[in-house]
Formats: sequence, C-alpha cells, structure tokens
Amino acid sequence: MLSALTRFIFIVSLAFIAALIALNSWGEIPAIAAGIAILAIPLVYSYINLARLRKYALSDSVESMPLPSGFWEEVFFRLQRLVRNLKQQIRVIEQQHDRFIEAFQASPNGIVMLDDRDQIEWCNAIAERFFGLNFKRDVMQRINFLIRRPEFIQYLNRRQFDEPLLLERMGVDDNLSLMLQAFPFGEKRHLLLVQDVTDLQKADAMRRDFVANVSHEMRTPITVLMGFLETVQSLDLKRVQQDQYFDMMMSQAQRMKSLVEDLLTLANLESNTLPAPLQPVQIPTIMALLKNDAEALSQGRHALNFEIASPCLLLGDERELLSAFSNLVSNAIRYTPDIGSVSAKWSVNAQGQGEFSVSDTGPGISSEHLPRLTERFYRVDRSRSRDTGGTGLGLAIVKHIANRHQAQLLIESVPGKGSKFTLRFPKERVGN
Ligand code: ADP
Repeated sequence: MLSALTRFIFIVSLAFIAALIALNSWGEIPAIAAGIAILAIPLVYSYINLARLRKYALSDSVESMPLPSGFWEEVFFRLQRLVRNLKQQIRVIEQQHDRFIEAFQASPNGIVMLDDRDQIEWCNAIAERFFGLNFKRDVMQRINFLIRRPEFIQYLNRRQFDEPLLLERMGVDDNLSLMLQAFPFGEKRHLLLVQDVTDLQKADAMRRDFVANVSHEMRTPITVLMGFLETVQSLDLKRVQQDQYFDMMMSQAQRMKSLVEDLLTLANLESNTLPAPLQPVQIPTIMALLKNDAEALSQGRHALNFEIASPCLLLGDERELLSAFSNLVSNAIRYTPDIGSVSAKWSVNAQGQGEFSVSDTGPGISSEHLPRLTERFYRVDRSRSRDTGGTGLGLAIVKHIANRHQAQLLIESVPGKGSKFTLRFPKERVGN
C-alpha cells in the first residue's frame, strides 16, 4: 500500500506531466485544464467515498457496507472493526445487565433503587406488588409521594438506616407485614430491601397466644389449689372436711397433669415432621381398649356401641392412633348428656379408605365453630370442657396425628342433634 505522501507526489507529478504534454500540443489553457482534471481525480474519489460513509453512518449499518478499494479501504475497514467491537461490548454489557435484572426479579424480596433524591430508579415486580407501584408509571417519582405511611416517611427522613422498619397492614388487601431496610450504595443512592414477614409475624403472634393460653390454663388450677391449701392450713377442719379438700386438690393437680401431658404429646407430634411408620395395628385390639376406657368414663350413663364393619389392619403408629381414637370417644362421652348414646365404628369405604367414626347424640356444634375446633385451646363450651377435665388440646392432637397418617378429620354436626367425627385413612394404610 502506497503512503499518503507518495500518492500525493505521484498525482502532482502526473498532473504536471499531463499539463506539460497539453502545453506542448494545445497551449496554456488546455494545459491548466489537464493539470486541474488530474488533480481533481482524488478529490472526486474522496468525495464519493465520504458520501458513502455518510450514507452508511446514517443508516446505522457501517459494518455491512462493501469495502471500497484503495486509500479509503483501510479507513472503512478500521471503522467497521471499531463499530463491530463496540457493538459486541454493548451486547455483553446488555446481557450482564439483563442477567442482573433477572436475578433481582427472581428475588423473593422487594427491591427498590433510589437515587440521591429518593426517586425510584428501578424496582422489581415484588416491590411493585408490595407497595402497589407500577415501575413504568412511577419511575423517577419520589418514593415518599408513593408510599404515604407516616412511619415510612419518618424512617426515610431520619436517614438512620441501621435498623429495619416493620410496616403492617400493607399490600392491596392490607394483609401483609413487611420488613424494610435501606442500604446506601454508589453516590448517595439507596437500595430498599423489603421482606414479607407476614407468616413470621403470624407465627410469632400464635406463639405469644399459646404461651398466654398455657399460662392462663395453668394459673387457674394453681390458684384454686393454693386456696385449698391455705384453707386446710388456717382452719381447724374435721377429718371428713379435710378429705373433701384433699379430693378437690387432687382433681386440680390431675387437671394440671393432663394439661402438661397433652402439651408434651403436642410438642412431640410437632417436632416429628416425618410421616407415621407403617406398623400393622390390629383394629379389634384397639376397639377393645377403647371400649374399656369408654365404659369407665361413662360409668353406665350412656348407651355405648362399638362396631367393626370390616376387620382389617391399619398401618400406622399404634400409640398415636389409640390416642387420637380415644380423644374422639372421650369427647363424645364428655359432651353427651346422660342417657345419650355414643357409637364408634371402624369400616372400609368403597374407595378402600379406612374410616374410624364416632357419633353421639350430644349438643352438637354450630357450623361457625367447626373450622376452628382443631386450634389449640379452642373451645365451644368453655365451662363444660373444664368441668369434664378437658384441656382444649384434644382435637389439636387428633389433627396432628391425622396429618402424620395422611388422614382427614371430617366433622359433621347438627346443633341439638349430635356430632360425628370421622378419621379417614388413605387406602395405602389399610392392610389385610
Ligand atoms: P376439650 O379438651 O375442651 O374437649 P378438644 O380439643 O377435644 O378440647 O375439643 C375442642 C372443643 O370442641 C371442645 O371444647 C368442645 O367445645 C367441642 N367438642 C369436641 N367434641 C365435641 C362433641 N363430641 N360434641 C360437642 N362438642 C364437642
């Protein structure tokens, strides 16, 4: 490739020679014209290529344009390479950017990027849902105009972001609890991270309720027990009266013992997340034990009926199954007034599922209570439950045991007529 200076000398020499020849042959004016014509050739060539370059530059397809030959080839070639490299770099950066956005979108937490004036630069879909934002609409809006909660505005203004902020009753249905914290980054920018803590808050509230309930349940018999002890200590009672007090103290102690036992049973069930084992349990054996306990509890006050419609094996944990079945039977006896009847039945339905059901002719339960019956300490009739030694934990225990055996607890009840509690086991747990 010739250098620019060589080309220049070559053209000028050519123009000079052409001018000389023209001068000798036709005179001065043709000589000047010949010289100018030769000198104009590279100018025209350059002008044409400049025009092409402009056209391609405007059409944004510099890389695809055909290369001219000669001096301009190198210019075009280098330009094309530069544009191609730049485009490649932009593509890589765009891909990285897209990946970051995808990662932020995949986060289960809300993310909002704020600039130095607390304007929203970017937020993910979760943040949009949490705060009712719309990124396209709200981009570059100040966040304190969009989230109008006073505690949030105070948090933002105070500029002390070491501690998170809990926002309750958020979301479209006001049912979300959100934990939010701002983290500084870049130049006076902030990243808002928002976590949905609704379930944690609920679990915490449940734990607090549970502790309050247990304390309350324990305090009552302890207070009564202490009252009796003071009476026995301070009064000069006759032997018969003392015995009466001791009996009453014993029943309060018994109540505490039942409560602690039920709490331990629940704690054990809750700590065991595995399904119940598949040990073969003989239904006739279980029914015989249940019948004995029922007769002792009823003491002849009820008509009792125990029936095995399909003798078979149930695969599960014998101790747990006995505990669940006897809770249902003892509830039926405890809540059914004297002369009423209680029936317990084991059968296998048309789908091969095993069913243990207990029906009674007791007071029944109105429908609004049914969904809550298996909650811990939920009672329809508080005094009847206490009078009959109930802890309020029986059905919670039954429900846990049912879950461990993949069984369903079905409750049908008509107020004033009676109730039927059924444990339905999957056919995989029914053996021959
Ligand atoms: P409790 O120890 O109070 O019996 P449970 O968890 O076993 O606790 O039962 C919860 C509540 O369900 C009881 O307090 C009672 O009001 C109601 N209940 C349970 N079984 C029956 C039944 N067979 N008939 C009427 N009410 C019942």
